[in-house]
Amino acid sequence: MRAGVLYRDESRIRIEERDRRPLARNEVRVRIHACGVCGSDVHFTVHKQVRLKKECAVLGHEASGVILEIGEEVRERQPGERVVISAGTSCGVCPACSRGHWNLCASASVLGLEIDGAFAEEIIIEERYLIPLPSGIPFDHGAILADAVSTPYHALKYVGFLQRGEKVGIIGIGGLGVHAVQIANILGANQLIAVDIDPGALENASRLGADECIDAKQSKNIGKDLKELSGGLDILVDFSGQYKNIENSLRAMNFGGRMVLVGLGKNSLEFKFPMMIVERQIRISGSLGCDTRAIPELMDLYLSGKLDLSQSITSHHPLEEVNECLENLHHRKGNPIRYIITPNGAIR
Ligand SMILES: [Zn+2]
Ligand SMILES: [Zn+2]
Repeated sequence: MRAGVLYRDESRIRIEERDRRPLARNEVRVRIHACGVCGSDVHFTVHKQVRLKKECAVLGHEASGVILEIGEEVRERQPGERVVISAGTSCGVCPACSRGHWNLCASASVLGLEIDGAFAEEIIIEERYLIPLPSGIPFDHGAILADAVSTPYHALKYVGFLQRGEKVGIIGIGGLGVHAVQIANILGANQLIAVDIDPGALENASRLGADECIDAKQSKNIGKDLKELSGGLDILVDFSGQYKNIENSLRAMNFGGRMVLVGLGKNSLEFKFPMMIVERQIRISGSLGCDTRAIPELMDLYLSGKLDLSQSITSHHPLEEVNECLENLHHRKGNPIRYIITPNGAIR
């Protein structure tokens, strides 16, 4: 079977022919029909911001497909079943994992780093990572539920505790931020302000439901602008990893406000007026991926017509075009939301 393999010192993925191995007792072989290309894939490839720990890896953590074969101890899944594959991997036995919070597991990782991912015709994965995909959801939309949609959902609902009527700011309108805009509206946000350095990304945000946009390149002080436009925010979610935005936005937060950090940054985070955090009881939390609640809940929202992903897919590509997709995503060429790799041909 063909797989896209990234070697540690290289920035381009090589398409290689690999031998199929037999399944372990609790494993399942899935034919990949769709796999989203994520910003974090860019960090490992074109950007070379993060280096692989292993000699080589098959990336791709936002995938859906059809079960081809099951190991002899697999009980819940059947060959022929449509599935979404969890974007996160974990130990499966610690207290956090047994409560369904794989994202709080000490050995949590992204699919592709410890276990070979889905930029490939097939994947071998433990049964516990599979979520049945209803026939009313196409493979490409199912695939992006694994990360691009579920990560912002978790951040807004389960970390930010977004309540109806609240005012929300979203910084960084890439593949995740654009879905945060949609989800904040579904969860009942009253006013929604999007912030990005790219006018094209802000166009995506207004098209998908942002009430106001701040062009971070034009803005002298994002916090001041957020305060002026909203009168005070209840939730601010950052996908950019530019922590100075968080520092500047503290003053824009209401009493009881929540700041949620999703984007990974390398710079330090320092507050000039830390007393404000105490006086206003502002909560600052990180948010990683999602737990087992998000994807089934999002499938319900999709099937009830509340979650519309019709604008989320930029284009579909064969496995051989994965490097081109990564380059284009890196340069934000044409304001992509999600490129989808279809390693087994164009099946929706
Ligand atoms: Zn991702
Ligand atoms: Zn665990």
